[in-house]
Amino acid sequence: MAARLVDGRALAKRHGAALRARVAALPRPPGLAVVRVGDDPASAVYVARKEQRAERLGFHRRNFALPAATAEAELLALVDELNADPAVDGVLVQLPLPPHIDATRVLDRIHPDRDVDGFHPRNLGLLAQGRPRFVPCTPRGVMHLLAEEGVALEGRRAVVIGRSNIVGRPLAMLLEQAHATVTLCHSRTRDLGAVVAEAEVVVAAVGRPGTVRADWIRPGAAVVDVGVNRLPDGRLVGDVEPAAVERAGLLTPVPGGVGPLTISMLMDNTVRAAEAATGLRPW
Ligand code: NAP
Repeated sequence: MAARLVDGRALAKRHGAALRARVAALPRPPGLAVVRVGDDPASAVYVARKEQRAERLGFHRRNFALPAATAEAELLALVDELNADPAVDGVLVQLPLPPHIDATRVLDRIHPDRDVDGFHPRNLGLLAQGRPRFVPCTPRGVMHLLAEEGVALEGRRAVVIGRSNIVGRPLAMLLEQAHATVTLCHSRTRDLGAVVAEAEVVVAAVGRPGTVRADWIRPGAAVVDVGVNRLPDGRLVGDVEPAAVERAGLLTPVPGGVGPLTISMLMDNTVRAAEAATGLRPW
């Protein structure tokens, strides 16, 4: 039987409705600053989507598109300014940054209380200790999606493929904290197929089409495809072979699966920051 395809856009819409009520309860609009450096075309698309969603939710927005030649010191100075702006709750610097800028130094400079991407070591450290504050948006989106789709995690075997600080590593922590038994795979994993075949939940976050072969999937498994890959003919595809739909119980499409929820969780994190900054919830 073919897998149930998850409609990420519909889930994002439903989440947006709940978020609107939280925005309405705030004494002032939540503020989100988005900084992009250079002209990476994919980044331009991602940033435009984030800005559009923030606008629709009535956020106060500060958007910056800086030239590729921007000096690291200039970018750090802008982050400092945004960290101090009382109308800003969340500061986001879109990755990737041009090679002459040390991305780690820039991300570390964002104040942890405004780190709505959840990449600051303090926020990742809190997550590692099981007391999350700002959780990175894509892993949070995956957890939201699994919860909304009723995928049981407790006691289940979950495999995460990819160990970036942005997706795979924090997601493995979240799945473990939801009481799954988690295996984290990467480019040095031997016999990936055998590991995947054991899993009741599979998450692929690699960035290479066809990494997860359809015949590896355990029948009925929940398969979440985080990968976004552009083929030479212009099509967007994930990391999982499309024929996985014949074996999985649930599958997220690319596009229209995890992507919309990543943006939802960025909005959610910004509203959380505003709720904390205005005393509506404790930090
Ligand atoms: P990344 O930093 O490049 O990490 C890729 C990971 O995949 C690494 O841990 C790497 O292992 C592992 N890997 C590479 N080849 C592999 C193989 N053959 N078998 C097993 N593991 C392999 O990428 P990322 O930033 O996490 O992003 C991953 C994908 O998700 C990309 O396609 C990206 O565009 C997409 N993404 C989507 C969203 C969304 O909202 N939908 C958000 C973020 C990212 P090593 O550590 O050993 O090198």
